[in-house]
Amino acid sequence: MRTCWQNDAGITVAEQETAPFFGRDQNMENIKYRCPVCGAECFEVTAHVTQDWKIDCNGSYMESMDECVEVTHYPDEDDIWSCANCEFYAAGSMFRVPTDGQKGEGDAT
Ligand SMILES: [Zn+2]
Repeated sequence: MRTCWQNDAGITVAEQETAPFFGRDQNMENIKYRCPVCGAECFEVTAHVTQDWKIDCNGSYMESMDECVEVTHYPDEDDIWSCANCEFYAAGSMFRVPTDGQKGEGDAT
């Protein structure tokens, strides 16, 4: 379900960022996350983004011009994640899939 992290609003932030997926250390590249309750691999999290608005002569909000200009905070393991499939929610680190024992695979000679 990669649609979780993509959007069709023409956001180019991800392309500008040289940081990996979560903007954290590169060790997270190989980490997978899965709901420990139902096994779903799609989560609802809160990212912090900036947005362009159209305002009126009083400076009051009229409408938003886009969904996101820049991501100022990517969801990380310290944030609260909610499973998109069931009602489980916890810190992101609770969704981490243990990868111990998988490192040596594919080493057949
Ligand atoms: Zn779940």
